[in-house]
Amino acid sequence: MAQKWTIEIESITNAETAWQECKKICNHKHYIEPSQLEVMDMPRDARPFGESLKKCLMHMSTLTCRVQNGTRMCTGLVQRVRKSKVNTSNRSDCPDPNCSVSRTHEIRILTVTSVSSIIKPRSRDQHIQLLIEDFNCHYHFSGIKSEGEEESVRSEWCELIFITHDIDNTNTLPAAVTDFEESQRSLYEEFQRENYPKKIISIIGYPHGPKKMVSFGEIISREPEGNIRGDLEWCVYRYDAPTCPGFSGATLLIPGQPLAGYGYWFGHPHCHYAYDDNTWLGRSSIGCDHRSRTSLSEPWAFSLSAYYKYILIVGIAIVSMWVYSSY
Ligand SMILES: [Zn+2]
Ligand SMILES: [Zn+2]
Repeated sequence: MAQKWTIEIESITNAETAWQECKKICNHKHYIEPSQLEVMDMPRDARPFGESLKKCLMHMSTLTCRVQNGTRMCTGLVQRVRKSKVNTSNRSDCPDPNCSVSRTHEIRILTVTSVSSIIKPRSRDQHIQLLIEDFNCHYHFSGIKSEGEEESVRSEWCELIFITHDIDNTNTLPAAVTDFEESQRSLYEEFQRENYPKKIISIIGYPHGPKKMVSFGEIISREPEGNIRGDLEWCVYRYDAPTCPGFSGATLLIPGQPLAGYGYWFGHPHCHYAYDDNTWLGRSSIGCDHRSRTSLSEPWAFSLSAYYKYILIVGIAIVSMWVYSSY
């Protein structure tokens, strides 16, 4: 059967009815509010690293935001935050055309990753808004940074740039980004140390708009889409994590993936793009990945360590019996 991908952007005009009339209503019972998340709520295979995953998801939740264009909304992630000085008395030099400060002042520049479908089709009267629950202030949409830079890559993914003059209310935002990256790094190191199977993914999105929710699933496949350089390649993921309209643009947290693309010049993590109408499997936007270190075909890794544990236990039992019987 031919695949028909449906992008999960929601209309904010009917949040209530959209929830009740959702054709994937059976997904709703699998969503968990990030603040309520416990290790026991996670899939069984995720529980061995559940505490680290929970910590990482808490930090990711802080940075998960709503991106709204007119009456359409989807999910985004604040990926970078930096400060800049508007060094002029001329207001028109500030990237915010509504700026009312007529002296040298500071602004904060936010890079938000999402799906480019939220800004398409382009229209003159588009009104793009950013809503970050814990950092509630006015953000001015200043442009799209990376879309179309890579000619060989489909432009499903985008970086949206927002600026704010509200330095006080966003004071702890840079630390929130650092906390997320550090928790992600230690989760990845734990994966390397313990050799966990790399098939679990989790996503935090806004199903139908109002509240962010965590969703868990397994990676079904990973499809290469072209070389970048060295060990890096473009690829897309398919997975069975429940999603609903509003989830497009939500970053995929793949615990075994080296830093999910953060820290590279293209800074290109995978985010949820669409779902297949026939199978309901999700598909990520195109993103970058390490070819060798993100191999999914290693169920033997877990069974091998279980095998060694089994041999050890049996060995100890035989030695104990031999020692006991020799008395
Ligand atoms: Zn739904
Ligand atoms: Zn200004």
